[in-house]
Amino acid sequence: MTAGRHFLQIPGPSNVPDRILRAMDMPTMDHRGPAFSEVGRKALEGMKTIFKTEGRVVIYPSSGTGAWEAALVNTLSPGDTVLMYETGHFATLWKKLAEKLGLNPVFIEGDWRSGADADAIEARLRADTGHAIKAVCVVHNETSTGSVTDIAATRRAIDAAGHPALLMVDTISSLASVEYRHDDWGVDVTVSGSQKGLMLPPGLSFNAISAKAMKASETAGLIRSYWSWADMTGPNDTGYFPYTPATNLIYGLNAALDMLHEEGLDNVFARHRRHAAAARAAVEAWGLEILCNAPADRSPVLTAVMMPEGHSADAFRAITLRHYDMSLGNGLSKLADRVFRIGHLGDFNDLMLVGTLAGVEMGLRDAGVPYRAGGVQAAMDVLGQTLDTHRDAA
Ligand code: PLP
Repeated sequence: MTAGRHFLQIPGPSNVPDRILRAMDMPTMDHRGPAFSEVGRKALEGMKTIFKTEGRVVIYPSSGTGAWEAALVNTLSPGDTVLMYETGHFATLWKKLAEKLGLNPVFIEGDWRSGADADAIEARLRADTGHAIKAVCVVHNETSTGSVTDIAATRRAIDAAGHPALLMVDTISSLASVEYRHDDWGVDVTVSGSQKGLMLPPGLSFNAISAKAMKASETAGLIRSYWSWADMTGPNDTGYFPYTPATNLIYGLNAALDMLHEEGLDNVFARHRRHAAAARAAVEAWGLEILCNAPADRSPVLTAVMMPEGHSADAFRAITLRHYDMSLGNGLSKLADRVFRIGHLGDFNDLMLVGTLAGVEMGLRDAGVPYRAGGVQAAMDVLGQTLDTHRDAA
């Protein structure tokens, strides 16, 4: 047992604030009784303000993977071609899921060091003169690499190609941390989860659905049951669910919605950008390399750091855990042992960031990784320089 608080600095699940823990610390209630209607309605309506949509949002008692599957099975038919973009590990998992469902994913290859390239998407769509591609799927914040895809630019690429494909976006690690506009950006299905920017434990997932996607679901041929939007809509209209919802997570969600709006979404996004800028300043001062090599695509949510040649990221992470009781994110699939990921998302403030970076800097020293001291100081300088504007905004 280690004294003091554990530092959970993986890029999700993120730290759950006490206010949300208290909101969930309630007896379970009758999810078909009169009192639940208000709870369900608040959650369903409230999520629209986070996705920035006037359309329908559905909530599943599942991890994010379920909402990935839901987006595909509700809108597509066996053998349909979907255009997907290899931003990293999670984009690859979504593509594998599409294959397992009997879809035909066309994967635009990427090097896992930037967001999706809208020009490459446009070129593929222009070449698809027969409109075989039924959906374009991209990951907004690729959690395995720390890169962000410009969704407005992706929409413009689809429009410029004059292509009717649906646009589906995974916001599992960006929602409520990075600016997002489902309606304005013309997204058809937005996929998300509870355990990152929404500051909840894992266990809820979401689809925000455009009118065009809802229409497609009426004729889509893939088999669906648990994930069926059609089964959700009737009960949801009165705040209920077709099967048992995760009631206590929904109490927590309603507290999270209050917290996000009390702070103001724009302030939440600015806070994430500011912490990311400070984290990057630390990495640069240490003389280490940031995995995402397209500066404009660097994530406000996490920073993935490349380990110098000949050094093990996992051995380093084991040391930060043992010496400083801090969990950092690991490298996933082809990045295993090559990178470590610093999560700076959710319920997070300046001193938590400085503590996190101090743990990294001490861990680099303890693990014998070559680095220059002064990363924490560089981060504190960024935080100091931006303090006034940040406080005025908040
Ligand atoms: N997509 C992204 C971008 C993720 O970060 C994750 C999980 O971290 C997933 C999908 C998969 O979600 P889950 O693990 O909740 O099923």
